[in-house]
Amino acid sequence: MRFDTDFLEERFHYFNHQIFNGKLSPIPFHINHGVSRAAYIRSLRIQTMRGAKYCKFQFHASDALDLPKSQLEDIILHEMIHYYILSHGIEDTSPHGQIFRKMMKSINESYKRHITISIRRDKTMNPQRGSDKKCCTAFLVTAEIENHGIGLTFCASTRVRNIHHALRTDHRLKNIQWYAYRGSSLYGLPRVRKPKLYNVTETLFSKIMENSTPLDPDTGWHQFLA
Ligand SMILES: [Zn+2]
Repeated sequence: MRFDTDFLEERFHYFNHQIFNGKLSPIPFHINHGVSRAAYIRSLRIQTMRGAKYCKFQFHASDALDLPKSQLEDIILHEMIHYYILSHGIEDTSPHGQIFRKMMKSINESYKRHITISIRRDKTMNPQRGSDKKCCTAFLVTAEIENHGIGLTFCASTRVRNIHHALRTDHRLKNIQWYAYRGSSLYGLPRVRKPKLYNVTETLFSKIMENSTPLDPDTGWHQFLA
């Protein structure tokens, strides 16, 4: 069996009430075809152009994984523990730290589950079905946000000019740089139509940059708009 949004939603709702006392807020589900991760919770610190910030969570799962239902459920539960810790602002010692392990152990014991920390996916992930190809192209822009590190965003090609202008006139932003991105995934990030920058993890940032070519504004990069 493979993940789909109906299954994720139904199981999330069920486990939320059975195991988490209904303490998890609804979360949007996204299916990808990636072969490197079975599932993950993305947390986005969103910086709006008005300077406000808020945290948004997304549940991502790959349909490249073909496993028995109970194992998919254990993966969902693993991610729900992450989501519980993140969304309640609990400080753990590491991503799978003491609190994570304690919750995992207690759920495994009380509900006869087999949640684990490392998910073996080498043999179960099927790359033929997943799109491991460099299929996603997008405009990418990065900028240094005053006191908030580097933000990035993928941008709809029709909005490049408007967004470039809006970013350039925002005095809190420095070193605005555009790229042509060509990679296997947009990692759940949207192609924005309004100026908006996302803070992503360092790992994701470097993964994205590996597949990006800088566009020099002085050398006619708007050819990419064609
Ligand atoms: Zn984990």
